[in-house]
Amino acid sequence: MSTRINTILKNHFSLSQAGLMKLEGYESTNYRVQCDSGAFVLKRYPDTPDTLALLEAENQILNRLDKLSGWEFPITIPNSKGLHLTREDGSIYRLLSFLEGNFLGDVGHTPALLRSLGRFLGQTDKSLLNSTEPAISAKESQWDLKNFRLNYKYLEFIPDPKDRSLVDYFFLQFDENVYPIGDQLRKSIIHNDANDWNVLTKKGLVSGIIDFGDMCHSWLINELAVALTYIMMDKKQPLEVARTVIGAYHEVVPLKVQELDVLYYLIAARLCTSVCNSAYTKTIKPESAYITMSEKPAWSLLRRLVGLSPVRVSDEFRSAAGFHESKKPKPAEQLKRRGQNLSSTLSLSYDRPIQMSRSAFQYMYDAEGNTFLDAYNNIMLAGHCHPSVVRAGQRTMAKLNTNTRYLYDELLSYSEKLLAKFPPQLNKVFLVNSGSAASDLAIRLATAFTGKNKVMALEHGYHGNTREGIAISHYKYSHKNGVGQHPLTLAAPMPKAFGSGFRDDGTAGDHFAEGSLTILAEHKNTIAAFVAEPVMGCGGQVPLAKGYLAKVYPEVRAQGGVCISDEVQVGFGRLGDHFWGYEMHDIVPDMVLLGKPMGNGHPIGAVVTTSEIAKKFEKGPEFFSSFGGNPVSCAIGEAVLNVIEAEKLQEHARVVGNHLKALLANLQGAFPEIADIRGSGLFLGVELSDTNGHPNTKLAAHIKNNLRQKFILVGTDGPHDNVLKIKPPLCFTKDDAAILTNAINAILKDP
Ligand code: PMP
Repeated sequence: MSTRINTILKNHFSLSQAGLMKLEGYESTNYRVQCDSGAFVLKRYPDTPDTLALLEAENQILNRLDKLSGWEFPITIPNSKGLHLTREDGSIYRLLSFLEGNFLGDVGHTPALLRSLGRFLGQTDKSLLNSTEPAISAKESQWDLKNFRLNYKYLEFIPDPKDRSLVDYFFLQFDENVYPIGDQLRKSIIHNDANDWNVLTKKGLVSGIIDFGDMCHSWLINELAVALTYIMMDKKQPLEVARTVIGAYHEVVPLKVQELDVLYYLIAARLCTSVCNSAYTKTIKPESAYITMSEKPAWSLLRRLVGLSPVRVSDEFRSAAGFHESKKPKPAEQLKRRGQNLSSTLSLSYDRPIQMSRSAFQYMYDAEGNTFLDAYNNIMLAGHCHPSVVRAGQRTMAKLNTNTRYLYDELLSYSEKLLAKFPPQLNKVFLVNSGSAASDLAIRLATAFTGKNKVMALEHGYHGNTREGIAISHYKYSHKNGVGQHPLTLAAPMPKAFGSGFRDDGTAGDHFAEGSLTILAEHKNTIAAFVAEPVMGCGGQVPLAKGYLAKVYPEVRAQGGVCISDEVQVGFGRLGDHFWGYEMHDIVPDMVLLGKPMGNGHPIGAVVTTSEIAKKFEKGPEFFSSFGGNPVSCAIGEAVLNVIEAEKLQEHARVVGNHLKALLANLQGAFPEIADIRGSGLFLGVELSDTNGHPNTKLAAHIKNNLRQKFILVGTDGPHDNVLKIKPPLCFTKDDAAILTNAINAILKDP
C-alpha cells in the first residue's frame, strides 16, 4: 500500500521521498506524510458519488474556515491539475496540511484552556451559521445527535444488562425531553466531533481542530454537547468544567435557554452513542482499540450523569450563560394547594417535605435540583423509571387496554410466568390493583373455602387499607387513633427474637409459636385464616423468629384454616437468599399476597393460591375487577419479572445486602446506640436504643431527618418508631451502601 501512496504523492502532488505513517480513522485511511517540503495528511476514501459530494462540501467549509483568523484548520492542497480531490483506482485522495500542536487529550485542562475551547467553538460555529451545503444537510449520520435513535439498534450489543438499561433510560429520556422540541432548536453546520484527539492546543490554549468527517447539519447546540461530553470525562467537577466552556461559547454565539435546557440529555445521548457504537464494533472488530478508547470514561461519566439531577444541570448551564435558574414551585404554595384539596390524613415525610420532580434508578431528583439517593422506596424494585418497565407500559397502553372478560395474550403470558415462580400446588392467580385489594380478597377466599370467619394476624402487622385490611392490621386498629380490635380478629404477639430475652432465634421462635398455639386452641375450628408477613415491614423490619411459622402453620390447618403469607413488602427477590419470604421459613402457604414491587410502581397486586381454594370461590358470585389483570398491568408485571431475571437482581440484592449489613455491623461496633441489625438482602432494619436499652425514637427521627439533609432517603418504623428501614431499589450498589453508612456514621459521631 505504501508504494501506491508514494506513487499518488509523486504523480499528483510532486512529493517524493515521503515518510509515511498510518493514522487511525473511521471512514478514511489516513497517512501522515513527511517530506522535505513539509508535513501533510493524505486521506483515502472509497470513490462513491455520496463521498465525492460530501468531500466537495467539506472542502468548501474548510475554505471558509481558513479565513477565520487566529485559529488553525486543515487546508486542502490542490494536485498538479489544481484539483482538491484526486480520483484514481476507485479511490478519492485528498491532501491536507498537517497541523502542529498538542492534542487536547495530552494537555492539562486549565480554566484558560477551557475558555479558549469555548471561544474557539463559538467562533467556528459563528462562521458556519449561514453556510448551506446540500451534501452535508443530506447526511444521515448516527453520530449526529438529532439522529440519536439510529443507535438504538446497537443497544443489544451492550453485554451487561444493567448497563443496557442505563443507556435505554437515556434513549427514553431523549424521546421524552428532546425530540418533542427538536424542530424548535436552531440548526447549522457543525464540526460535531470536538474531542480530545481532534482539538489541538498550543501553549496551553486551543489552537485549531482537525477531522471534519463527522460534520453535519444538526442542532447548533450539539457542537457544545459533543465537546462537553469529552471535556467532562474524568473530571472531579465536570459541571464546573462544562460551565467554563459554555460561558466562553455564549460570549461568541449567544445561546438560548431552550438549548441549555436540553444539553444534559444531549451529553447523555453522545455518551450513549459512543458506548453503543463501541459495543457493536467490538462484536465485529474485537481488536479495535481506537474505536473503544473512550469507552471506560464514557461509562463512568454516564453513571455520574444519572446521579446528577437534570434540573440542577440545566440550572448550572443556564447560569453559566447568565440566565436565571428555572422557576421552582414554592413549598408553601404546594402545601396550601394540597391542604385545599386533600385530607390531612395523608401524611408527608420529613419535617421539611420534599417536592419530587423526577427519578432514575436509585436516584430521586427534587424540584430544587437536588439528587436523593433512595435507600427506602422498595416499590421501585428494578429502579425508578426503569426503561424496560416504562416501555412495556407505553407499548401496551398504545396497543390495547381492556379487562379479563376478553381473551388476550398479556394475561396468559404473565400468569404463566408469575406462577412459574411458585411450587406446583400454588397454581391459581387472582390479579388485582393493590396489596390491599389482595389481602381483602384473600380473606374472602379463606372464609369461602373454610366456612369459618375468624382471622389470626400478628401484632404490629399491616395488610391493607380496606375495611377488611384494617380489621386484620394491628398496626392500624391498635394505633392511638385506631378503631380497636375487630371481634373476629385474633392478635398473636409479634415473634421478634431481638429483645425477647431468649438465648437464640430458634428458642424465641418456639416460645412465640407456643403462644400462638394457645390462641389457636382457644378459638379452635373457628379460624378461617392465619396471615403473617415473613419479615414484618411496619413492625420494624422483623424477620419472624426461626421455626415460628413451621410450628404454627400445621396447627392452623389442623383446625380447618388456611395460611396466608403477605409478601407485599418482601417478595420478588429483595431478600437475596430467597425469591419469596416464606421460603426462608421452610413452609409453603396456601395463599400468597403480592403487591408493591410487582409493577415497579404501577398499581398491581395478586393473590396466588391453590386450585382447591379457587374452586370453592367459584361457587359464589362472579369475581370481577375492572382493572385487575388488564393487559397494560400484565405487560408491566412481566417486564418486572424479566428485569429481575436479566439483571440478576435477587443475587445483586444478596451480595450488596451482605456488604451493607457488614458496613452497618462495623458501625454497631463504634456506636452502642445501634442495638440490632436485621433482615436480609436489601430489606434491612437498624434498631436504635438509648443508653438504658430503651427504644430510641428520637435518634431514629434524627438520623432520618439528617440523612434527608444529606440527600439520602430512609424510613423509620416499628412499634416505637425506633427502627431505620433500609429497602432501596435493587440497583443500589456497594458504593451506595458506603455513601449511606458513611452518612450514618457522620450523624452518629455528631448527634
Ligand atoms: N401488606 C403489606 C405487608 C404492606 O406493607 C402493604 C403496604 N404497606 C400492604 C399489604 C397494602 O398494600 P397497598 O398499599 O398496595 O394497598
